[in-house]
Amino acid sequence: MSEIFDLAIIGGGINGCGIARDAAGRGLSAFLCEMGDLGGGTSSRSTKLIHGGLRYLEQYHFRLVREALTEREVIWAIAPHIVRPMRFVLPHQAGLRAAWMLRTGLFLYDHLGGRRRLPGTRVLDLAADTAGQPLKPGVFTTGFEYSDCRVDDARLVVLNARDAAERGAKIRTRTRAVAVSRRRDAWHLTVADVSSGKRDTIAARVLVNAAGPWVERVAFAACGHRPRGKVRLVQGSHIVVRRLYAHERAYIFQRPDGRIVFAIPYEGDFTLLGTTDRDYVGDPAQVSATGEDIAYLCEAASAAFARSVEPADVAWSYSGVRPLYDDGASEAKVASRDYVLELDEAAGAAPLLSIIGGKITTYRRLAEAVLHRLARHLPARKGLPPGWTGTTPLPGGNFDPEQLSAVIEGMAERHPFLERAHVARLVGAYGTRAERMLGKAKAAAELGRHFGATLTEAEVRYLIEQEWAMTAEDVLWRRTKLGLRLSEAEAAALAAWMGEIALPTAVRRA
Ligand SMILES: Cc1cc2nc3c(=O)[nH]c(=O)nc-3n(C[C@H](O)[C@H](O)[C@H](O)COP(=O)(O)OP(=O)(O)OC[C@H]3O[C@@H](n4cnc5c(N)ncnc54)[C@H](O)[C@@H]3O)c2cc1C
Repeated sequence: MSEIFDLAIIGGGINGCGIARDAAGRGLSAFLCEMGDLGGGTSSRSTKLIHGGLRYLEQYHFRLVREALTEREVIWAIAPHIVRPMRFVLPHQAGLRAAWMLRTGLFLYDHLGGRRRLPGTRVLDLAADTAGQPLKPGVFTTGFEYSDCRVDDARLVVLNARDAAERGAKIRTRTRAVAVSRRRDAWHLTVADVSSGKRDTIAARVLVNAAGPWVERVAFAACGHRPRGKVRLVQGSHIVVRRLYAHERAYIFQRPDGRIVFAIPYEGDFTLLGTTDRDYVGDPAQVSATGEDIAYLCEAASAAFARSVEPADVAWSYSGVRPLYDDGASEAKVASRDYVLELDEAAGAAPLLSIIGGKITTYRRLAEAVLHRLARHLPARKGLPPGWTGTTPLPGGNFDPEQLSAVIEGMAERHPFLERAHVARLVGAYGTRAERMLGKAKAAAELGRHFGATLTEAEVRYLIEQEWAMTAEDVLWRRTKLGLRLSEAEAAALAAWMGEIALPTAVRRA
């Protein structure tokens, strides 16, 4: 073991990859292992919002809301390809939260932090506005419209990992942390390749436990005791149905049980509905939407829209486990969404930092907080200053958000053999890096095999070589959402093709 990394990170979700990126940019040497696919845990199973969290104001979580509100425009600016501003319609409903409460909450939302480009709140007459048209007649008369952003959560994870790798971080996927031992000045971390079982041990000055819902298990394995802060696992499910309405705004509906349910335009032809909140026990890897969750979300949609939504309409469902800090709240829906960093720095020994909680929205600030807490255990290296991740674009995001249409137009002109919708999808996923994928191709046939729904061999090869994709599921459900469009036979053909092409070890270990 010749090299001693500055940091070893367990977990390739948004938090682990965000920390790896920030550390690598500051000149620190970072190692990250992920037992499955990048973002395969909670970070691909969110509501996909970069939002302040209107609901958290009710629980007086002002610090979290302010930080999250400010991050909306920061993340939009560094990733304008995968983040889009979105208007949300909040209908007022008699008997639920009073209109003055909604107005006060939205006033705070508009003014608490960092809103420069996103438009503010306005009142809607739902009898006159198109937003009222798909709703159940007679239930809603007024509403409010406010701004937040949507994000491709799984791609945000991968782009952070890609950037970290380009700045020197070592990212190992399908690699499980199986044993850790603490020495005076370093951790020894043993990792196993999940397919071959081959083990290696690496050394690092600092160990970061970013294992999300597995944080307690990893902490127990490392130190023999669980973190001091308790973790509360809260399951949340979503369903995806064919598009319920024509316009591009999202809805946030209040429920009689005090919860809220979003209806969000999704992937062009679909509507995303979620989420639920219930305490979860069991293996986070086995979580899936229950019949009860699906029924709850269908009922919520049917109570709000003129069209009823049935379980048979569900095109796709997914479920994730929030690894929340247990603040003793009685109900899962009000447990804090803020993060807690727990530093274990037993006298003179190498430190362990465990992350409990957090949100996709605040991952960048969490990474900064982690490096700040660890600063005295890390060597001074030549690199970018703290805060750099908020001003440096993620891969493919090097254009002004207002220029998105121009980027699509430019690429469509340079590649006239592609349909415009295809170019828009590529730019929406890869930004300016779509050019690298298309290479010098002058005709569609030069992009190789066509797997269906505009997915070509050139794109799959790019995902294997640049984005650690190894299975058809990685490609269809995390790097893209083309799983919604490929037939079973097409997905099986992709899986067979991916199984056949030999993946050089160098690619796996990029
Ligand atoms: C239903 C739901 C909706 C949400 N909606 C939003 C939203 O709209 N906006 C928002 O900002 N946030 C949202 N969140 C919160 C957000 O998704 C999470 O806070 C975030 O994804 C947690 O990221 P993480 O990196 O901590 O965990 P994860 O993404 O779970 O990453 C941890 C990783 O560690 C890996 N791992 C575990 N053990 C090991 C080991 N021994 N060796 C190697 N790897 C290991 C796992 O495989 C996993 O990939 C939502 C969460 C849920 C569940």
